Amino acid sequence: MTARAPETIAQVVEHGLCIGCGLCQAMAPDRWQMRYTPQGRLRPAPISQGDDTDILAACPGAVAMANPDKTPETDSVWGNFHTVTRAWAGDPDVRFRGATGGVLTALGMYLLTSGQAKFVLHCTADPDHPMQSPWTISTTPDQVFKASGSRYGPSNTLAGLEIALARNEPFAVIAKPCDAGAIRALAQSDPRIDTLIVAVLVMVCGGASDLGKSRAVLNEFDIDEQDLTLFRYRGFGNPGPTRIETRDGRAVEKTYLDMWADETGWRIQSRCKICPDAIGEAADLAAADIWPGGSPTGEDAGFNGVITRTDQGQRLLDAALADGALKQDQTLTPRDMDDFQPHQVRKKHQVAARLRGLTAAGHPVFRHVGLRIDDLDTGNIAEEHGARERAAQGRFSEPFDFDSD
Ligand SMILES: Cc1cc2nc3c(=O)[nH]c(=O)nc-3n(C[C@H](O)[C@H](O)[C@H](O)COP(=O)(O)OP(=O)(O)OC[C@H]3O[C@@H](n4cnc5c(N)ncnc54)[C@H](O)[C@@H]3O)c2cc1C
Ligand code: SF4
Ligand code: SF4
Repeated sequence: MTARAPETIAQVVEHGLCIGCGLCQAMAPDRWQMRYTPQGRLRPAPISQGDDTDILAACPGAVAMANPDKTPETDSVWGNFHTVTRAWAGDPDVRFRGATGGVLTALGMYLLTSGQAKFVLHCTADPDHPMQSPWTISTTPDQVFKASGSRYGPSNTLAGLEIALARNEPFAVIAKPCDAGAIRALAQSDPRIDTLIVAVLVMVCGGASDLGKSRAVLNEFDIDEQDLTLFRYRGFGNPGPTRIETRDGRAVEKTYLDMWADETGWRIQSRCKICPDAIGEAADLAAADIWPGGSPTGEDAGFNGVITRTDQGQRLLDAALADGALKQDQTLTPRDMDDFQPHQVRKKHQVAARLRGLTAAGHPVFRHVGLRIDDLDTGNIAEEHGARERAAQGRFSEPFDFDSD
């Protein structure tokens, strides 16, 4: 059966292809507004009817693409790159506060202090709903600093993209790999992307949970979401604890290993299970964890694996190292990355079979460009049948409904 791409935003959502990036709201705010569903997913709610062809040309539920740059190095699993290094933020406070070694935060701050960018589009904890992670524009290094740390729930960073572009000033984006893919796809029709965005920086990404994962943590401690003053998923150490604080002065913590011990409770969104680029091939630079074997054995000082994917990304890394905003101590190889990220290697090999299974079940799937998904296909029949079966059971289907707030 031939794969077909979704033809409407409704099809993207209903077939589990939406990741809630917010691009549709940015491109057509009169037609789409991001809302939380009862399941705790950010999805576009329809406001009015219209032609969504332009959105579907960049929506991560309809297309995924690598950046088009030629690079000196390439690897079948890890894709095109300039260098892979072990690095961390030069400022010990940034390193401590960041999710891993604070590289993304340090680069965002450096781009502002060096004058290369006027602001950074990324996401941060909502002060009124600290479990949520809406898009934000940081114009000062301190704002970037305060938004550091991984947020393991929905984030709609690209909902701010049009507002960012309309400022007509150079800016950087820190986001997920799928967001970077949407930016690359949009660059094909919107010349402002290549003119105004000085760097697209991403984290390597194992998948975004819906808010049900965070609600389960609150339930465990018998805490109401409305009582929260802090929901920090990670950071303040590497990996740092998940820390929750309430208005009445309670504070509870869970270690990273406790937080992620039971995979059945991760509530990872379906787009993530078929993600063709969770390793930042669309970005200028990607930052990762580098725990041997793929998980931490305790806390450490914070070390990122940094993959530069374009000339722009390599120049930024070199300049930040020269400035002292970043420090590095060793070169890594794609095989080192295999050891640090075994789940990413498995996924890269499994995606083709899963997409085949969905296609066989009659589901639309995204187009993928330059991500070697077919080359990495191992012809895994069990994966293909599993995806087909899950689709038949409705596990790749979502209702189109919304919370009233
Ligand atoms: C959902 C999720 C899954 C991840 N899975 C993996 C994995 O499988 N392997 C791996 O190596 N690393 C994974 N990470 C990345 C890792 O946790 C670190 O983010 C990464 O190493 C960068 O660390 P840092 O110290 O440079 O980041 P920091 O300096 O702390 O900067 C983090 C930046 O990312 C932005 N951000 C945080 N959360 C989100 C989000 N959900 N969506 C968009 N932007 C966000 C913040 O605004 C901030 O600017 C994941 C992160 C997330 C959010
Ligand atoms: S993936 Fe992004 S652009 Fe596509 S429908 Fe979902 S929120 Fe909109
Ligand atoms: S796994 Fe892929 S689709 Fe899911 S949040 Fe990460 S980059 Fe986006």
